[in-house]
Amino acid sequence: MIIIVGTGAGGGILAYELAKNKIPVTILEKGPYIDSKDAFNYYDKYSEDVDLLTTTCIGGATIVSMSNMVRALDEELLEYDVDLTEAYEYVEQLVGVHQLDDSHIGKGTQAFLDAGRELGLTTLKMPKAIREEDCIQCGRCAFGCPVNAKWSGKDFVDMAIEAGAELICDAEVIEVLSENNNATGVKYIKNNNEKIISADTVVLAAGAIGSTLILRKSGIEEAGRQLFFDPFVSVGGYLKDVNFNTEVQMAGLVIGENFVLSPHFSSFIRANIPDDSVADGDILSIMVKTPDECRGYVDDEGDVVKINTIHDIRFLAEGTATAGFILERAGVDPSTIGSTVYRGAHPGGTAPIGKIVDSNQQTEIEGLYVSDASVLPISPGKPPILTILALSKRLADYLINK
Ligand SMILES: Cc1cc2nc3c(=O)[nH]c(=O)nc-3n(C[C@H](O)[C@H](O)[C@H](O)COP(=O)(O)OP(=O)(O)OC[C@H]3O[C@@H](n4cnc5c(N)ncnc54)[C@H](O)[C@@H]3O)c2cc1C
Repeated sequence: MIIIVGTGAGGGILAYELAKNKIPVTILEKGPYIDSKDAFNYYDKYSEDVDLLTTTCIGGATIVSMSNMVRALDEELLEYDVDLTEAYEYVEQLVGVHQLDDSHIGKGTQAFLDAGRELGLTTLKMPKAIREEDCIQCGRCAFGCPVNAKWSGKDFVDMAIEAGAELICDAEVIEVLSENNNATGVKYIKNNNEKIISADTVVLAAGAIGSTLILRKSGIEEAGRQLFFDPFVSVGGYLKDVNFNTEVQMAGLVIGENFVLSPHFSSFIRANIPDDSVADGDILSIMVKTPDECRGYVDDEGDVVKINTIHDIRFLAEGTATAGFILERAGVDPSTIGSTVYRGAHPGGTAPIGKIVDSNQQTEIEGLYVSDASVLPISPGKPPILTILALSKRLADYLINK
């Protein structure tokens, strides 16, 4: 039997692929099983001092994601003998990655795309896993899709259960048990009771911070001593009646050398503009996301600490300036352009391939694997879900063949 801890980007697909191949699987998830439309109630902050969010519920952070799906770190992973080419192709087909039909590109997104192209930037529609026929274009992807038009890790968990997997929710895994350096099961807490399940194979997919805490408790002390978090800000200003706030979010993409930009509504931008008559529908804003150096860590209390380097700030400044040019070209009043505070988008790199796990994602404990954002060796500076899905698909194939 294989135990999978966590049901987000890494855990869901792994459970499905294994169950589909008749391998007995038990999935343990710390949060509850919920409807996707209720996901916004399950946002969690990793730390008081660092602005970094997740959701603790079925599907993990994928349930509030924009379903942006881009390949990342292909070249870098090859250095660790990890070739994701086939896995990417498989996963892209499975979740239906495509650029949205023009019927789902709103006025604000189109203005972003036109401005990016006019400025000679590499500009495209964002590859996504959203079904246009179901999508009501409400702009609420980050709250949890009200009509299940968007792929999330929950879809794979449901498919895994149908294929025979067992799911235990509201179960917080504390530790992986081992004997003579071989995994023997996990200890978890449910309804305030400590419980144990035995298995010789355990895959942690509890996210970069969740997996770190479990690894440390299980004797792998080096986990979480480094961390990236893909910093971002949103930059925006006043564009009367653009009504971008109700469009499909992040449906456009500009790829720079050191940043990516994508149109993304932030109500904080409106709060920056002193004129009270400015409404949410009058704001066009752009998310600026950059790769950062692995200079953060998870401290002994489990809090995230992030150190910003000159390199991190320089990339963010470059992206922010470019976003300003796009906004101005798109018709935004330049005197109103401002930015949100600096936040983290995707924590990862806490159990990197080549250091904490080998190229098969196995730790120094035989039978204990990690398959989530933890294993990424460096910051992708881009949406990481597709890469995590591909890594888990590759691990599923490895475990099936084993
Ligand atoms: C608002 C928002 C929008 C985003 N949009 C995108 C996007 O469009 N595209 C993209 O690529 N990325 C996006 N991301 C980032 C992406 O969702 C994450 O990087 C990705 O989900 C990480 O996958 P994971 O498997 O590492 O962890 P998660 O998906 O977070 O899954 C971890 C799971 O483990 C569970 N867990 C944690 N601790 C324990 C424990 N001790 N015991 C049992 N279970 C545990 C959690 O509850 C959770 O279900 C977004 C993130 C946010 C917050």
